[in-house]
Amino acid sequence: MGVKKATAKRRAGTKKRYVYFFGGGRAEGRADMKELLGGKGANLAEMTNIGLPVPPGFTLSTEVCTYYYEQGKKYPKGLETQVTSSLGRVEKLFGMNFGDSENPLLLSVRSGARASMPGMMDTILNLGLNVETVEGLVSRTGNERFAWDSYRRFVQMYGDVVLGLKPEKKDDVDPFEEIIERKKRERGVTYDTDLTSQDLKGLVDLFKREIQSRRGVNFPEDPMEQLWGAIGAVFGSWMNERAISYRKLYDIPHSWGTAVNVQAMVFGNMGDDSGTGVAFTRDPATGENRFYGEFLMNAQGEDVVAGIRTPLAIEKLHEVLPHVHDQLLDVRKKLDRHYGDMQDFEFTIQNGRLFMLQTRTGKRTGFAAIRIAVDLVDEGLITPQESLLRIEPDQLNQLLRPVFDIEEKRRAVGEGRMVAKGLNAGPGAATGKVVFNAPDAEEWHRRGERVVLVRIETSPEDIRGMSASEGILTARGGMTSHAALVARQMGKVCVAGCTGIDVDYAGRQMRVKGQTVREGDYISLDGTTGEVMLGEIKTKPSEVIQVLIEGTLKPEGSHVYQQFAKLMSWADRFRSLRVRANADQPDQSRVAIALGAEGIGLCRTEHMFFGEERIDSVREMILAADGEGRRKALAKILPMQKGDFVGIFEVMNGLPVTIRTLDPPLHEFLPHEDKEISELAEKIGISAEVARQRINALHEANPMLGHRGCRLGIVYPEITEMQARAIFEAACEVKQRGIDVHPEVMIPLVAHVNELKQQEKLVRKVAGEVFEQKGVTVPYLVGTMIELPRAALTAGEVATVAEFFSYGTNDLTQTTYGLSRDDAGKFLQEYYDKGILEKDPFQTIDQDGVGLLMRIGTERGRGVRPKLKVGICGEHGGDPATVEFCHSIGLDYVSCSPFRVPIARLAAARAALKGSKKTERKKSSVKDEGSRKAAGPARPPK
Ligand code: PEP
Ligand code: MG
Repeated sequence: MGVKKATAKRRAGTKKRYVYFFGGGRAEGRADMKELLGGKGANLAEMTNIGLPVPPGFTLSTEVCTYYYEQGKKYPKGLETQVTSSLGRVEKLFGMNFGDSENPLLLSVRSGARASMPGMMDTILNLGLNVETVEGLVSRTGNERFAWDSYRRFVQMYGDVVLGLKPEKKDDVDPFEEIIERKKRERGVTYDTDLTSQDLKGLVDLFKREIQSRRGVNFPEDPMEQLWGAIGAVFGSWMNERAISYRKLYDIPHSWGTAVNVQAMVFGNMGDDSGTGVAFTRDPATGENRFYGEFLMNAQGEDVVAGIRTPLAIEKLHEVLPHVHDQLLDVRKKLDRHYGDMQDFEFTIQNGRLFMLQTRTGKRTGFAAIRIAVDLVDEGLITPQESLLRIEPDQLNQLLRPVFDIEEKRRAVGEGRMVAKGLNAGPGAATGKVVFNAPDAEEWHRRGERVVLVRIETSPEDIRGMSASEGILTARGGMTSHAALVARQMGKVCVAGCTGIDVDYAGRQMRVKGQTVREGDYISLDGTTGEVMLGEIKTKPSEVIQVLIEGTLKPEGSHVYQQFAKLMSWADRFRSLRVRANADQPDQSRVAIALGAEGIGLCRTEHMFFGEERIDSVREMILAADGEGRRKALAKILPMQKGDFVGIFEVMNGLPVTIRTLDPPLHEFLPHEDKEISELAEKIGISAEVARQRINALHEANPMLGHRGCRLGIVYPEITEMQARAIFEAACEVKQRGIDVHPEVMIPLVAHVNELKQQEKLVRKVAGEVFEQKGVTVPYLVGTMIELPRAALTAGEVATVAEFFSYGTNDLTQTTYGLSRDDAGKFLQEYYDKGILEKDPFQTIDQDGVGLLMRIGTERGRGVRPKLKVGICGEHGGDPATVEFCHSIGLDYVSCSPFRVPIARLAAARAALKGSKKTERKKSSVKDEGSRKAAGPARPPK
């Protein structure tokens, strides 16, 4: 160790650093120090280091936050000294002094967590103003109105954030806004900008008095007291209710804490050569590689985000301040290249001089995420692997989301139902009933309604309601307003800044184009064009779906599709986990194939029983008095079931098809109403009384743990026999037509190897008979679902018979937890609220419990049959986190609903890239289904 390093270490050992300075082209932090400095602090440091004009400042690290909460809201020793000395450096660099009555330095105090939490925590601007320093600001700027407006804003923000004067109920107006409105009425003016410096002075006084009377505290005049108050409030905001619920929504651990950034204020509201803006290095809605942003002249940063004034497009800045516009173009290029990703940055222009206030990786729609990731590869800035890691699998949902039916929309427009147009802030089509506040959105959603949330503007309190809505419509705000940012992040349809609507919260209605829309009325939003239409409008599938499934759009006609296909081809190159689909019908199988499925992982044969012409025969079979009667009825079902299998085998064209024998308790197929029972009895030639008796006899107290799964085939072997016959006859016939077939017969709900043995024997007997009759054989497997803990624990025995396992994690979760999959929804919310469970175990696998059984089952199964094929077919198979888990425990495939197949493909690729050194999948290693037919990217229909 060199002397220098050793001394540095000693120094670090004696004095822990809590504060990181940046300014004057050099910073103590870097972009990769997000854990310590939070996203904002780390990037302020990075921007300083790459030579961008950042006002000087310092960051109090997240360790201070952790300490603060661990030690009963106390600060670590030494922090105060470090803050004071950093503040001194800022004063020196900026040539101004904090609290100076002649040349006062003002500060901003902002939060900044490791993960971006837009608007969830608190910010205080213009800190350092008091009755003396405000006069200094007046004389330094020569602008009395500006100085008093700054003070007015400071008292308002500090009063709200630090001293807690804010609206108490959901329909309450902000107390400060109320005072401003009163003042405007008194002065007979419409806009805030019409208020004079005298008026603003009056407002400061009124604000302070309101704070005193309602909060019982005097507004602090000492700048240092203000600073520590603000720092405490920002750390405190880490634990406010909306920040906590945001973290829950986005899986951000509470233990991370936030950093606090203290920075010299620069002003965008110092006159006509000042301004402020937000820009993206690429278009956040479409992902297009173009500079995209908005600005307001003579305004402060929060005016753009809060949507009080609708900002101008960034190109217009060229007309106002061409040199700043050019400088911004350079900044854009530098940031995009330096970070190798789309950045969302904030800037302020103070008297014609540009300052950078923030940069971060920009939130984007699913469309934009994919386009940017694919374009960056094409531009040589990142590798395909990196691009796959940049896209959250669930973002693909947006590409698969519906758009309006063109004809329906045209009709709506023709009928004059297109009543307003706002900004196209979040693409896609949404239709639903109007609600005017977030709690209502949540409540209506809970009772099964589709809702569109309409607000004048949204605020962070609204996030849960936004999440519950199909779409969001706001009267104010630009593309970077809260509504727009959050909606895009959530993948919600959003029309923002729609000035044509006039919202009346108290009356629960809005006026638009002379019409009144009341709570509960339908409206439709086109988030791609910004149009607002009255009434409900049917939606249509996405472009990807149109190319791949409907065949109504040519691949070359859709850029979205082309990028999707490219991305999917990369995903397929890097993943090792196979992806199959759960499908019961030929048309579902077709969709699955189009979306890239490599086989069917679960065909639930009971779904085939419900067809109109079939259900009677199924019921006849169930109500038959004996085996003979059952066989007679089964003979009627056999050709129908066989027909379905033929259809599926044809579509799957050589890919494996896992067919499960009958699973649900038989009473699920039976009628319960007297009238229906009598009709059925007549049809099948028994008395209504006998029918009723037999139905009653089938009743079970706990059917999910009753006579279902393989237990049916054991008690009624003729059912398994019929199903096996239908499978093998179909397979032979299809094979005779020259189509390759690979059936895999799967026995459900096995707990004991002897159950499987018995059913396997039966299946193999039928297969032999059919092959002999047809004079042809087909390769097939017999395996089992692992959906009971006993099966997983005794997998070593089960695998002596089973040629494959498929985890039925719906039942495995139910039986491991002893938690009814049909009833758990009624009370699980309490579990999340009370912190007992973090997530729904029926959605994402419980890795420690159910996952452990999967691990044990796989290890023990492969212990006796090393090549045992193992997959998952519960609903978890399409959940990205579960897919990653399945990859990590060495499963061969996941099977999910057809529309989640692309999501699972991407999740599987990300798992492979994250979890191992595995590189491209070599052609030679593509075994089983893949070697029969290369899966490749999703294909459009011929
Ligand atoms: C399962 O239990 O996970 C499964 C796929 O079967 P089902 O949902 O039909 O019970
Ligand atoms: Mg099951």
